[in-house]
Amino acid sequence: MSRLTVTPQGDALMLAGAIDETADLMSLLGRAQGGRLALDLAGVTFINSLGVRDWIRFQSTATQQGLQVELRRVAEVLIHQLNMIIATRGTARVTSFFAPYACDKCGREESLLVDAVANAQGLARLEPPPMTCPECGGAMAFNDFPERYFSFLSQG
Ligand SMILES: [Zn+2]
Repeated sequence: MSRLTVTPQGDALMLAGAIDETADLMSLLGRAQGGRLALDLAGVTFINSLGVRDWIRFQSTATQQGLQVELRRVAEVLIHQLNMIIATRGTARVTSFFAPYACDKCGREESLLVDAVANAQGLARLEPPPMTCPECGGAMAFNDFPERYFSFLSQG
């Protein structure tokens, strides 16, 4: 299991690896710029219960400090946490995230990036944006329950 690495990329910090008791998420708060902190979470592969606890503490401290946290390209493993434990959402804004899709034609399954801003209206109606299969060009179907998978988008 790989430890969490933090790499600045553009205006965001790219997190990769596992979020566990060694992750030290609180140190990210000091790297906010102008009251904003953008995290790219595409590379997060795993989060355990101690990581969740640390994540909640990170989120609530960011809120207390008035930091605007933006979560980009959120990996599926984290979306499941955001859906299960409301406290993990904090006041962060998810601008894009990965979602499971499957091709009706060739059966290919893939985690695809969804732009939560451009698709905000459809997502609010629990309508997954249509996707095209990278393998065969067929239509891909959303491969989870929208009311469950998109629940993190509805505040409270
Ligand atoms: Zn296909």
